[in-house]
Amino acid sequence: MSQSTANRQNKIKKIVIVGGGTAGWMTASALSKILGSNYCDIQLIESDQISTVSVGEATIPQISLFNKILGIDENDFVKKTQGSFKLGIEFIDWTKKGGGYMHPFGDHGTNMDAIQFHHYWLKMHQQGKGPDLEEYSLAAVAARQGKFMRPQNRGNSPLSQINYAFHFDATLYAKYLRDFSVERGVTRTEGKVVNVSVRDSDGFIDSVYLENGERVAADLFIDCSGFKALLIEGALKTGFDDWSDVLPCDRAVAMPCMPKEADVLHPYTQAKAQKAGWIWRIPLQHRVGNGYVYPSKFVSDEEAVKILTEQMEGEPIGEPNFLRWTTGVRKKSWNKNCIAIGLSAGFVEPLESTGLHLIQSSIAKLMALFPHQGFDQIDIDTYNQQTKTELEYIKDFIVLHYKATDRDDSEFWRDCQQMKVSDRLQAKMDLYQKNGRIYREDNELFNETSWLAVMHGQGLTPSGYHPLVDVLSEEEIERRLQHIYSVIQKSVETMPMQKDFIDKYCKA
Ligand SMILES: Cc1cc2nc3c(=O)[nH]c(=O)nc-3n(C[C@H](O)[C@H](O)[C@H](O)COP(=O)(O)OP(=O)(O)OC[C@H]3O[C@@H](n4cnc5c(N)ncnc54)[C@H](O)[C@@H]3O)c2cc1C
Repeated sequence: MSQSTANRQNKIKKIVIVGGGTAGWMTASALSKILGSNYCDIQLIESDQISTVSVGEATIPQISLFNKILGIDENDFVKKTQGSFKLGIEFIDWTKKGGGYMHPFGDHGTNMDAIQFHHYWLKMHQQGKGPDLEEYSLAAVAARQGKFMRPQNRGNSPLSQINYAFHFDATLYAKYLRDFSVERGVTRTEGKVVNVSVRDSDGFIDSVYLENGERVAADLFIDCSGFKALLIEGALKTGFDDWSDVLPCDRAVAMPCMPKEADVLHPYTQAKAQKAGWIWRIPLQHRVGNGYVYPSKFVSDEEAVKILTEQMEGEPIGEPNFLRWTTGVRKKSWNKNCIAIGLSAGFVEPLESTGLHLIQSSIAKLMALFPHQGFDQIDIDTYNQQTKTELEYIKDFIVLHYKATDRDDSEFWRDCQQMKVSDRLQAKMDLYQKNGRIYREDNELFNETSWLAVMHGQGLTPSGYHPLVDVLSEEEIERRLQHIYSVIQKSVETMPMQKDFIDKYCKA
């Protein structure tokens, strides 16, 4: 028998997804779309008795690719999820109380003669000339003014480079994807998994048992059971790498509220640092999502609710939703015939909104390394290696926000200043502080623009700049920066307010 015939006979015939949160339904929708309805059976089991985390409402621009793969109509999707648009994240009080900066999606200025823009800006900035870096970012300037539109087909204009993501209601998003998946043949089963049966011969998962006694067998199991990690940890005891030494927040309380009347609908997420931890604000069409991410070592649950409600702008909606976790990742997110996707695979921290992206990225890797019943170990090892590298870069980027701070007004921030970060992150910070140099490594998620925005925003200051900047005269640099600045300001003037844009195209 040829290898290809063997592979065909060996194909995966049944996939079971355990869990119907965002991870479960994102996975189900992508698999049903890509595999079609004839390749194999896909069944998703979710339990009404166990609620989803119901957070995860801010995204990063990569999600547009996920929507494209599904073939989703973007206006319909925004409408049905009470969504809004996101051009970046505003960080308030992270470096010092009263300070703030924007991490925008999209470049600052434009590179000149193959040298990154920010080196020219740095030279002038070091002489006290010109506006802040943020003023050279179309996304940041538009975000602060409450403006939004999709990229325009206008040649070199910065309006053709608009890069955006979404805010949406997590519960409505899961429902949207559930309808999408069920329409494409995914079987949805309501039931609680109470037991997982593992084969003696090879330690693979053979089936799961529901509370009503039903046995559900499959070739491939996807664990989307959230922090419970029912299959990957509960059954397979895969192990966990704990990252709380550098990511100390381990609790959150979420509580949406009504928006202020006639408030501008700002197209950005806000992350406001507190004495310990930080508060998010996510503006949707019908409400504002709020949550306080805090370290249990310094803040009790009662205090957390008090701090959050004091800072909320409108009437709270519903009861506080408490979430608990340990930051870190599963030692292997693919073990035997089980792949953990979503919170079951680990959790870095909600700062920088990477949760849903990591789900999307896991699905992409699964598609690239899709197994047959034989499960080649090299495929599994490759998946795990890629996941590990990806997460370690994201971890460094998030740790940077805590480490690079001048705040010393609480034990929490003093601890953050003192913590030992990875050698790689330390090297990145040192390299930037010397001559402002920044590299994106190994195709890591966050690019140079993001590293620059956060390193500059968090108060790291280079002592020099790229020496080749001096090839241009100072007058020429000033002239070019002034030109870029005015192009950006004028471009933003032509953009509509986000509220008007939504009213026109995608009002819920
Ligand atoms: C505080 C916080 C804020 C976040 N903010 C963001 C953000 O802004 N942006 C972002 O991208 N990500 C964010 N995330 C991450 C994001 O919320 C998650 O990645 C996403 O919601 C996926 O969750 P999940 O589906 O893995 O888990 P869950 O939502 O917990 O779903 C688990 C599912 O498993 C089911 N289940 C569990 N046990 C059983 C059982 N025994 N039998 C049957 N079913 C079972 C449950 O019923 C549920 O359907 C945040 C996370 C947290 C904790």
